[in-house]
Amino acid sequence: MYFIANWKMFGGLNSLNSINIVLKFLKKFKKNKLIKIIYCPPNTLIESMSKKLKNSRIDVGAQNCHEEENYGAFTGSINSIMLKSVGAKYVILGHSENRKSGETDKLINSKIKSALKANLRVIFCIGETLKEKRKKITKRVLAKQIKIGLQKVKRKERVLIAYEPVWSIGTGLIPKSGDLLKIIKFIREKTKKNKVLYGGSVNSKNISELKNVFNIDGFLIGGASQEAKKFIDIIKKTYS
Ligand code: PGA
Repeated sequence: MYFIANWKMFGGLNSLNSINIVLKFLKKFKKNKLIKIIYCPPNTLIESMSKKLKNSRIDVGAQNCHEEENYGAFTGSINSIMLKSVGAKYVILGHSENRKSGETDKLINSKIKSALKANLRVIFCIGETLKEKRKKITKRVLAKQIKIGLQKVKRKERVLIAYEPVWSIGTGLIPKSGDLLKIIKFIREKTKKNKVLYGGSVNSKNISELKNVFNIDGFLIGGASQEAKKFIDIIKKTYS
């Protein structure tokens, strides 16, 4: 199972201390071989976090990157080679918070290709908005995001898909188990080679319900990942 922490625009150098608690927990946790933890902090923390986690089983990822695979005149941007050079092994792409500010499926597709080229693995987010859910076009929306996002992508197995309904992110709402099961199954049929995760308001309370959706390969966790204790609680409860 994957447990991916998306810290978003939170955290300074002192936040790295909280990871000690997670490392300590992992040493004692009997099922630690069954889990893969990936921390995606802001870019400013990737290098120090990677150094800190060098001899651990936890990997570090970024939250976005520029689509250009070479260096270039793009003020304020960072590409996948740069992320890789400071220790990132993964990058989250297609997050709805970035789609909202204008990222198209086509742009996300270019980003995925350039990230894979730099040898990063990709956490590719897809999901419908509340309006689309109400219109009952969720499957159509997801199919389009997958089709364009993964167009002509080689080494697809290096892409993890995170199903994150937009209406669920940061709202405390999660899909009904039956609906989630069907959607994950649908995504699997479309993308046979990929792991499929769920993200959106995952916390230590609703994890008992979410873990029963047997076809999920892990979770992408925002708010509840910033505090080590809450994050550990989610992991523990997944296996209790
Ligand atoms: P959330 O965020 O867990 O705070 O809802 C998830 C995400 O945006 O990846």
